[in-house]
Amino acid sequence: MTIDVGQVRADTPGCEHVVHLNNAGSSLPPRQVTGAVVDHLRLEERIGGYEAAAAALDRSERTYDALAGLVGADRDEIALVESATRAWDMAFYSLPWKPGDRILTSRAEYASNAIAFLQTARRHDVRVEVVPDDETGALSVEALRDMLDERVKLIAVTHVPTQGGLVNPAAEIGAVAREAGVTFLLDACQSIGQLRVDVREIGCDLLSATGRKFLRGPRGTGFLYCSRRLLDRLEPPFLDLHAATWTSAGSYEVRGDARRFENWEGYVAGKIGLGVAAGYALSLGLDAIEERVTGLAETLRGRLAAIPGVTVHDRGGRRCGIVTFTVDGHDSGDVAARLSAAKINVSVSAASSARWDFEARALPSLVRSSVHYYNTEEELDRLCEALPSA
Ligand SMILES: *Cc1c(COP(=O)(O)O)cnc(C)c1O
Repeated sequence: MTIDVGQVRADTPGCEHVVHLNNAGSSLPPRQVTGAVVDHLRLEERIGGYEAAAAALDRSERTYDALAGLVGADRDEIALVESATRAWDMAFYSLPWKPGDRILTSRAEYASNAIAFLQTARRHDVRVEVVPDDETGALSVEALRDMLDERVKLIAVTHVPTQGGLVNPAAEIGAVAREAGVTFLLDACQSIGQLRVDVREIGCDLLSATGRKFLRGPRGTGFLYCSRRLLDRLEPPFLDLHAATWTSAGSYEVRGDARRFENWEGYVAGKIGLGVAAGYALSLGLDAIEERVTGLAETLRGRLAAIPGVTVHDRGGRRCGIVTFTVDGHDSGDVAARLSAAKINVSVSAASSARWDFEARALPSLVRSSVHYYNTEEELDRLCEALPSA
């Protein structure tokens, strides 16, 4: 299968208005996704929110099947929440800690995860340790193996960092985690929707992702995968009458499936739209998506690197659709503003989003240009032509 670029662009009304290279921020949604969200909001307007949810129950339930299909899980291992951070937090803050426990993580880690590690380290006297990179810039699996001992309770790694094209070796990390019997939490926020991500192949116990990035779902949606082997042992930090049942005046019972990590209240229209987005990705084929996205990104890196004064900063032996660069003599924020004025959307990655990595590499803020399969080579040229000269 290859992507029919004309068709996916015809499905994407935003392509007529902007050159959208901010897919790691929030992709342009296909009309099918927006249509499903708006249809449900109209139904709520017509018959009432509870009544609309009941009438659309089949559609919102299908989202669990679509996401399970997307990541190779079972539907009762999926929880729908409002963001990747909330999905990650619900998993992370469910874990029990003893003083002296160790958490092993990657240097590329996302700020919100790092902040949660630091808070937990302070509260529970646990240690957070960053596994060194290998010579390509990815997490060193060898170093990870050397750092293991019986006090390591969690390996938590970002699959694709927010600030670069690197892809961490998730399946190799999963194999090490399984062999050692250590829980493995994968932040797949930037990989879902652009790469093939299969929880059984990777061997992670927990995986968090968002709707709006490469998956092209609505904003305000995210999901958590929790493997059945772990489910019973994790009691979420918050419980409500959806996550648990009040069984007698003095007792409650936590539900048996991954929906123990959900709230009762939720964004029903968004959940339906998220399922449509997952179905859309599956209909194109995850391998075809990955091939086109990584191919366009490599093309862009090559064209950028050929421009005098432009430096591409992506590391990793395996790379994805995120391309980061700087232009000599120009602040990255100014470069992004200039591109925005030319109707080219990019974003800026700053140290505050991934401090361990930025500081270790002494990086300034980076222009982040993230491609999707609906972008064209002509759009990549427009980006290169609109850059200020060094
Ligand atoms: C964007 C991002 C997140 C957070 O996703 P939200 O949906 O905004 O909570 C987490 N991890 C990584 C690597 C990200 O890039």
